[in-house]
Amino acid sequence: MDRVQSSASVCAGARGAAVTRKCRSLIRKTNRKRSSQPFFALIVGYILCCTLTASAQASKSGAGHETFSYSGDTGPGYWEEINSACATTATSRQSPIDINRVQVDRSLPALNTDLSATSFTVTNPGYTIKATPDTAGKLTLNGTTYTLLQFHLHTLSEHTIKGNHGVMELHAVFQDENSNLAVIGVLYRIGKPNRFLGRLLSAGLPEKSTSDPITVNDLNLANAFTDLSSYYTYPGSLTTPPCSENVTWLVLKQQAELSSSQYEQFRKVLGNDFRPAQARNGRIVRATPGNHD
Ligand SMILES: [Zn+2]
Repeated sequence: MDRVQSSASVCAGARGAAVTRKCRSLIRKTNRKRSSQPFFALIVGYILCCTLTASAQASKSGAGHETFSYSGDTGPGYWEEINSACATTATSRQSPIDINRVQVDRSLPALNTDLSATSFTVTNPGYTIKATPDTAGKLTLNGTTYTLLQFHLHTLSEHTIKGNHGVMELHAVFQDENSNLAVIGVLYRIGKPNRFLGRLLSAGLPEKSTSDPITVNDLNLANAFTDLSSYYTYPGSLTTPPCSENVTWLVLKQQAELSSSQYEQFRKVLGNDFRPAQARNGRIVRATPGNHD
């Protein structure tokens, strides 16, 4: 899943530190290669490196979202340099994961959402398509009320089922009063045209970073969900920096469909924006009974 609004400041803060780390790394390499050269060369290198890096950062959108990407030297393998919470350790609870072995739990209730049609503001911060509701809906989970913050999309899916990706995944992000998150995930496969996604496409998908927000009126997120009584659940994290491990994941078993032409339109804008599966580290994935896919 994607960060929530409050993380923007975290990443903005991390950006400077990440730049410094890159510079230090380059200096270390330079030092190893050129240990016999005068010290002032290192100083020049430091100034040059950091000036260029800072300049490159400043020339981007300025929204603070360019500190990570899905490829190259800001790709998922380097996110722990942006925030140490993204690192894999023996006890980390990072997301996404591959959902394979599950523990059937017949006591899991159908997900209790209270959603109605509202206007959504659709933006492209450079790493996803994100839609923020004008009037937030609710999710009630174990007696706790969570408020809808936004939904966004990944291509391919982030969660995999027995090693298999969906072509896309929607994340509906809800937050409780203690800032804990609950995210409903919907995986997609190619099939019939999807009316809910069609509403986004007909409004026009915003291009990366520079586009003005697009408003989609009278959209009900409930129509994006398949079967709220059939799902997997496990404790995990944001799937982008800062990778905070405060997320209850609720991945619907029944996949949704979208047509190949719809998929191509999303993929054209999103590219590959999925984080690979992370270590499960002994976590139990509970599942409602029965199979959908
Ligand atoms: Zn996401």
